[in-house]
Amino acid sequence: MRSLFKKIMAFFMSVLAFLGLIQPPATEPSPEEPAVQIISGHNMSVDVSAKGVIERAYCTDEQCGESFEVGIILPMKNTLRGSFDCSDENYRMVDNSTVFVYNSTDFDGYVSEMKNRGCELVRTYSMGDNRYALMKHPYFTVYISLLCAEGQLRVNIGRSDELAPPQMTGTNSGETPPKLWQLSIANVSAKQHGGMGYILQLSDGSYIIVDGGYDTDADAEAIFDVLVQNKPLDCEKPVIAAWFITHQHADHYGALYRFTRNYKDAVEVNAFFCNFPYRDFDDIHPQNCRNLEGVMASWTGAALYRKLHSGMRFRICNADVTVICSFEDVYPFDFSDGNDTSLVFQVSLGGQRILFTGDAEYGESDRMKYLDASVLQSDFLQYPHHGYDKQCKENFYEKVNPAVVLWPMPFLNHVTGETIFDWRYEARAENAWVRNAACVKKIVVNDEGLTCFDLPYMPEGERICDYSSLTGN
Ligand SMILES: [Zn+2]
Ligand SMILES: [Zn+2]
Ligand SMILES: [Zn+2]
Repeated sequence: MRSLFKKIMAFFMSVLAFLGLIQPPATEPSPEEPAVQIISGHNMSVDVSAKGVIERAYCTDEQCGESFEVGIILPMKNTLRGSFDCSDENYRMVDNSTVFVYNSTDFDGYVSEMKNRGCELVRTYSMGDNRYALMKHPYFTVYISLLCAEGQLRVNIGRSDELAPPQMTGTNSGETPPKLWQLSIANVSAKQHGGMGYILQLSDGSYIIVDGGYDTDADAEAIFDVLVQNKPLDCEKPVIAAWFITHQHADHYGALYRFTRNYKDAVEVNAFFCNFPYRDFDDIHPQNCRNLEGVMASWTGAALYRKLHSGMRFRICNADVTVICSFEDVYPFDFSDGNDTSLVFQVSLGGQRILFTGDAEYGESDRMKYLDASVLQSDFLQYPHHGYDKQCKENFYEKVNPAVVLWPMPFLNHVTGETIFDWRYEARAENAWVRNAACVKKIVVNDEGLTCFDLPYMPEGERICDYSSLTGN
């Protein structure tokens, strides 16, 4: 009699739980039977403990407030080396992702364990021998990567609505010849130095933009001019198929603010691509990041791919993009500073590879050295961190083995009037590699002015311009 009562009660409770009227028990759910309350239409995030327990799921819509206990224990607890919190507690409604690093190479085992915890395999990628998997749970997104040479698994747990990059966008049609422009940056009006911006043109006449320079009329106009002057005649407005922002420094993203203000009605943007940490790095702040994503979101109809993880590959018209490194890869190495949060990616277009490094420094360099030369090898290298200091290391450059170095640096410090390019190029230890490398046939400095490369480009002429005459010395 008593056992029948228990059975009836258990059945009654399970019906209530099913209807969402009571919460399932938080303690010790078996990994095989995760307590999943499906709440469709909500964009969920999770609180994960440093020990790898997904403790709570909550809706990221502050008006909604839906939240409940979960208790999913991530696999391979015994091999967990540590974790890195990608966001500030105050921004947990925007981003609450965490990276876990394991002393394990059992990629397939981890994927299969996550399936047992209710995750669905969405995409897999490879880069050399390295393997990557994107998985979805109703409450979170999982990105698993195995860097064979490092011998570690890296697992990123983020929001449920992280977008997987498109496998194909644009029409992949048209006959516009592939081009690459290095923009000259208006350092004078910015009263600073630095800055970088690049534009690529795809076969359908649309563009990829990488950063853009400062929040000045001059830098926004320089972008707009290239777009308008080179668009196909039958296109009413220039189309930016993809705009990448490497990191949250104003000499890179500033132009997007001004461009948005000055030219929103005159161009179309299909998508933005980035991956920013929502935490402080001395010179990088979560609110800044939120503002920047807000500017991107203000472009109606533009998709925002805000979590590009290394290993992801996708095609934009006739350009193939491979994500080489994100800030999530740096831990447990040290970040030099906010520059080590740069998104590093490679674009293959017109039979050549162009490697964009943003301002990547030692932290990202020390991670990328684990990648195969076959992956990193590129015809063009955007020289990291303007060649100022702490840029990447020789064991990275050697694998990139570029014929052309694109150097986003002014000849003069426009504030003090001092020359800054010559002694950095000639004397800085960090630049010894680029000075001496036999593979480098051409170095093009962005202060030389707007430069257009028809792809494929074969370097010819002087290795580097006569910069001493240009700096007035
Ligand atoms: Zn909700
Ligand atoms: Zn910079
Ligand atoms: Zn920077």
